[in-house]
Amino acid sequence: MNIQDLIRPSIKAIKPYSSARDEFKGSKDNLIFLDANENPYDNGVNRYPDPQQSELKALISKIKDVPSECILLGNGSDEVLDLLIRMFCEPTKDNILILPPTYGMYEVLANVNAVETIKINLSEPMFQPKPTSILDDATINSKLLFLCSPNNPTGNCFETSTIAFLLDNFKGIVVIDEAYIDFSKQESWLNQLSKYPNLVVTQTLSKAYGMAGIRLGICYASAEIISVLNKIKPPYNINELTQIKAIESLGDLTLVNNQISCLLEEKDALIKAFDEVYFIEKIFPSDANFVMVKVDDANTRYQQLIDNGIVIRNRTSQPLCDNCLRFTIGTKQENDILIKILKTL
Ligand SMILES: *Cc1c(COP(=O)(O)O)cnc(C)c1O
Repeated sequence: MNIQDLIRPSIKAIKPYSSARDEFKGSKDNLIFLDANENPYDNGVNRYPDPQQSELKALISKIKDVPSECILLGNGSDEVLDLLIRMFCEPTKDNILILPPTYGMYEVLANVNAVETIKINLSEPMFQPKPTSILDDATINSKLLFLCSPNNPTGNCFETSTIAFLLDNFKGIVVIDEAYIDFSKQESWLNQLSKYPNLVVTQTLSKAYGMAGIRLGICYASAEIISVLNKIKPPYNINELTQIKAIESLGDLTLVNNQISCLLEEKDALIKAFDEVYFIEKIFPSDANFVMVKVDDANTRYQQLIDNGIVIRNRTSQPLCDNCLRFTIGTKQENDILIKILKTL
């Protein structure tokens, strides 16, 4: 597969904006910067941030064992996903493939870009991709296939062999959204990047890393793909405060790793408790920090929980999710309150 043939012609032709910080790169010591029309009085954020986020990317590169030139950072994964659609999909011509029930942003971002979304539901009852249907429904204009694994809202990972088959046979880019991978026993697809030129993996600091508020999404792909994304991203898309906070937090992952262990233990405890709740009819297996369950009447139970001060996600209107509710795993204290309330309903 030739990746160049998949890129929008107008994007291939773009000459990127060259910012002041791009044009002069040098050691920051002892220089007087009069090139970017910044306010010179130091307050910690008066200078533009590093447009290439070199220090932060070097840290992520070390942690994940992926070269820096294979990493692009975004203002949340949502920016990364938007950039991918804009790089590969010609508005009103190309399309993306998604596998409902799944993360809602893929379709929203496609709509914003006037790109059609082709939907191929996951299988029942295991919520796995149906590879033959996917390849049958793909057209010559299908540029991106979004695989969310572990999948939101169902919680399960997709079979490794199914993903490998799709990587081998889909004639476009396969984006694996690994927002919840740190909660899963399944291996990340990151170490397969060099094997599959059409593989893009996205991750985020919003879930396991506990930094939803700083908005940092990560895209991993071949240097060929990343270099084009770099060309079209806004020059200063990762702000200074985000870069500082991410570098600080990623410097010591002990706390995050402990929190992940606690959340996984809490998930087991919550699933045990769900077993005893008479109106919970089915608990779906979860590789993430949330659990989807099927109840007798999702709308009623959702409202009852709100009346008791607990907000969960009602997924009943999603395909294959009739009467399904999604519970995020909270702290032990929060989960204990949840369990107590569930038993009174
Ligand atoms: C939460 C979530 C994200 C994270 O998006 P950010 O913009 O990085 O916060 C991405 N994908 C899925 C499937 C999610 O559930």
